[in-house]
Amino acid sequence: MRLSRYFLPVLKETPSEAQIVSHRLMLRAGMIKQSSAGIYSWLPLGFKVLKNIEKIVHEEQVRAGHIPMLMPTLQSADLWKESGRYDAYGPEMLRIRDRQDRDMLYGPTNEEMITDIFRSRVSSYKDLPLTLYHIQWKFRDEIRPRFGVMRGREFLMKDGYNFDLTKEDALHAYNRHLVSYLRTYERMGLQAIPMRADSGPIGGDDTHEFLVLADTGESEVFYDAEITDLKFGKREIDYDSVEACQAVLEEFTSRYARTDETHDEALFNEVPEERRRVARGIEVGQIFYFGTKYSDAMNATVQGPDGKPVAVHMGSHGIGVSRLLGAIIEASHDDKGIIWPEGVTPFHVGIVNLKSGDAEADAACEALYDSFTKLGLEPLYDDRNERAGGKFATMDLIGLPWRITVGPRGLKNGIVELTSRRTGESEELPPEEAVAKVA
Ligand code: ATP
Ligand code: MG
Ligand code: MG
Ligand code: MG
Repeated sequence: MRLSRYFLPVLKETPSEAQIVSHRLMLRAGMIKQSSAGIYSWLPLGFKVLKNIEKIVHEEQVRAGHIPMLMPTLQSADLWKESGRYDAYGPEMLRIRDRQDRDMLYGPTNEEMITDIFRSRVSSYKDLPLTLYHIQWKFRDEIRPRFGVMRGREFLMKDGYNFDLTKEDALHAYNRHLVSYLRTYERMGLQAIPMRADSGPIGGDDTHEFLVLADTGESEVFYDAEITDLKFGKREIDYDSVEACQAVLEEFTSRYARTDETHDEALFNEVPEERRRVARGIEVGQIFYFGTKYSDAMNATVQGPDGKPVAVHMGSHGIGVSRLLGAIIEASHDDKGIIWPEGVTPFHVGIVNLKSGDAEADAACEALYDSFTKLGLEPLYDDRNERAGGKFATMDLIGLPWRITVGPRGLKNGIVELTSRRTGESEELPPEEAVAKVA
């Protein structure tokens, strides 16, 4: 992409409405624009990162054996009346009436709808296990939408639902989700710690939230410092293996880690004092096992091996896809701007032409541009006729992992400058070597 042809409306001033750094940086970097409270347009740069995050979520779900689909945003109230949640959900639910006077709602989550799909299309235990998921916009009429996309009213969520014949199978599905979530967050450069949580309006007994530690997080968290040393890393896992998934769950949840909702002071005090941490965190996902709560209420049964109907065991599992942009920025920025982890960056490398219009500099930038494109990498080329200082500031603000600076003086000696956004270190080297380093 050439910056002269892109739409990157960066803001010079710090927007006064933004209270936390990720919100400020997303506005300043031209990623989002609020359209009304808690509802945002995703401008091209923000949209690109959102799509990258979505792609990682998809890849890791498919790897775990879960099946993508898509359900609508608007739902009929009937199903929610059946489950009993139409009244229970309260004012967070946006209720809508259509021209036929039918009660509709903008889905805050999809347990009812997926259970209805399941009961109308699946009748035998032979079709189990089954885990379906989608990535779709949700609406919750949050009492205090704030912090930009972190607590929006309209937000993008991945929500997955497992259907199993037995509790054991459903717990295996739960564990698969835990493993796939660990992988997902790590690929985004994030450490998200599974913490024992409270099930809230979804209901159920087993649930973990995934929290990214950050001072601006809305949850208070209590944990054993040892837990932050755990990394899933590049290990391969057989998702079909009950033992392998269970072992990961045990590894990542055996130390004390709880949110304020389930915090137990006495248990916490058993952790050696020097390892006890009280901090704040951002909830970027949650997994639930809730047994037959919805299948009982909505009569979702399959024919069991003995021919008798069995209510299926279910769970639901969510990732806050749009919230993750805020969480990643909270975890990765400096005073100049965002520092994107490689896994989600909107462009792989920025090319800064110090003297647009200079034949040699233009040609060198074009050549770099072609080399990256041929390698399947996406460069953002600042070809505008502007001061170098402004170009650097924009590149620092939008946080691409690498910047290549090209000017007539360096080119006389056959070199360009390669700068790492994260370390700030620069080195001078021939263009081909700069390309090789980035790739
Ligand atoms: P919170 O406690 O922050 O209100 P929640 O527990 O109500 O979140 P879940 O029902 O668990 O949310 O939804 C799954 C995920 O969706 C959450 O872990 C979070 O990452 C994301 N999410 C929930 N509400 C919002 C929101 N208003 N804006 C952006 N993301 C959200
Ligand atoms: Mg909530
Ligand atoms: Mg919560
Ligand atoms: Mg939650």
